[in-house]
Amino acid sequence: MSTTPLLKLNNGVEMPALGLGVYQSTPEETVPAVETALRDGYRLIDTAAAYRNEKEVGEGIRRSGLDRGELFVTTKLWLSDYGYDSAQRAFDTSVANLGLDQLDLYLLHQPAALDTEEWVGAYKAAEKLLADGRVRAIGVSNHTPGQLRALLDRADVVPGVNQVELHPYFIQRELREAHDELGIITQSWSPIGGITRYWPHAPNGGRSALEEPAVTELAAKYGKTPAQVVLRWHIEHGVCAIPKSVRPHRIEENFDVFGFSLTPGEVATIDALDTGLRSGPDPETVRLDSFGRR
Ligand code: NDP
Repeated sequence: MSTTPLLKLNNGVEMPALGLGVYQSTPEETVPAVETALRDGYRLIDTAAAYRNEKEVGEGIRRSGLDRGELFVTTKLWLSDYGYDSAQRAFDTSVANLGLDQLDLYLLHQPAALDTEEWVGAYKAAEKLLADGRVRAIGVSNHTPGQLRALLDRADVVPGVNQVELHPYFIQRELREAHDELGIITQSWSPIGGITRYWPHAPNGGRSALEEPAVTELAAKYGKTPAQVVLRWHIEHGVCAIPKSVRPHRIEENFDVFGFSLTPGEVATIDALDTGLRSGPDPETVRLDSFGRR
């Protein structure tokens, strides 16, 4: 069984470079997906309070029988719980749902552009959880370079991770450069471009990076699937990818990306698919009511 390469966060904590995402995995699907992934060798699971499946993630972990110390579990604070006190309460709920004493990574799910004090308060709460040893690392999600710098003006701890939309149609070159300057690890959500398929009306909607000749030709060359080529592209870039699947054969396929590599020229060929257009919400304007009922 392969083991996942590790990425070192700015506080020394090591995070697997590939994990299982569970956004849109129903509670019924989540337990077997997590159990299957852990059996296949995955050691990182990415959930969020907003996904409403933290309990099932915890159940999948327990059924795997693995030692807690082998696993890296991430969850995220939703916007409705921003603010110092609310964030601490929400963290307690999340770890209780997961059935864990300590979390590996806690992320602020969105930047909350219009609620600066609550956003900073939520991050301060995460810093306190880190200081108290309740979480091993903290970070953010969907933050722009400007938002990261604004947060850092008020924060004591540089986020370990910024989890952002990143796939061949939206390669986030400038953001990755900002992360390198600031010492933040990039984590790719929708790494195989899921959002362009399940949100057909978004920019790039209805297209699939998995069908691009630049990807399918490399898949044929290496005897791999398009998803494996795209996931390998993330690994070559040194970022962490968290593909979601609830199908056992795809969960296994998505993890089998450590036995081949892409040349710099092949990485650049996939980079060239970039459209510069994100499909997810704009971090500059996102706010709680952008998401409807949550
Ligand atoms: P992905 O790029 O992981 O794509 C997932 C989609 O692709 C699903 O429809 C899945 O279907 C399908 N799929 C999975 N594997 C394959 C394969 N090998 N070949 C073909 N199709 C495949 O998109 P997500 O948006 O789900 O992103 C992954 C994770 O990132 C999420 O689960 C979540 O943890 C995180 N995320 C975070 C966000 C944030 O704001 N922080 C936003 C969005 C996602 P099936 O399950 O049927 O296999």
